Amino acid sequence: MLNKKEIRRSLDVMAKMYPDATIELNFSNPLELVIAVLLSAQTTDINVNRVTPGLFKEFKTPEDYLSVPVEVIEDHIKSIGLFRTKAKNIQKLAQTLIDDFDGEVPRTREGLESLAGVGRKTANVVLSVGFGIPAIAVDTHVERVAKRLAFCRWKDNVRQVEETLMKKIPKEEWSVTHHRLIFFGRYHCKARNPECPSCELLDICREGKKIMKKRQVK
Ligand code: SF4
Repeated sequence: MLNKKEIRRSLDVMAKMYPDATIELNFSNPLELVIAVLLSAQTTDINVNRVTPGLFKEFKTPEDYLSVPVEVIEDHIKSIGLFRTKAKNIQKLAQTLIDDFDGEVPRTREGLESLAGVGRKTANVVLSVGFGIPAIAVDTHVERVAKRLAFCRWKDNVRQVEETLMKKIPKEEWSVTHHRLIFFGRYHCKARNPECPSCELLDICREGKKIMKKRQVK
């Protein structure tokens, strides 16, 4: 695994590459954020951003989402994956917000995870992006980068990856690092064809060296 100095260097390289990394979903309040993140499961942020302007224009409060048959919500989001389940979850989530939280999005992990369709990752994004509470949401990009760069062990599950990152990264950097890890994974250390030859971290990246070796053999 990388030592403290190497982790610091990795974070600094990512900060230099992506100083302004931030969430790519469009939203303007915590309700829109939680719904956008819920919609983003198994689809791209670009696809979500295509459907949310119409959705958010028509539905501004939890009550609004409950004032129509679920098919109306489905119709807004039918271009993205799992739209039927997601539409159902949006209505359930809206009902819980009204019943348990006075119509507001809760600011606690426990409260967020009690909402339909909201797991730990979504809760972490909402805490960090919506409320400025330090958290590291581990998505597919964060997990891949953390493992390739040996911030954690290859066999770690998502929860272990999150815990290791929280231990190794200063708390005040959790939220921004989460976005930089996503950008680094999405645009540079991609699942297929990562940019190892031009990567500033190749000298400390065992996985990158393996990838380079394989490419030379071909
Ligand atoms: Fe990712 Fe390759 Fe850079 Fe390693 S060397 S961090 S695998 S792009």
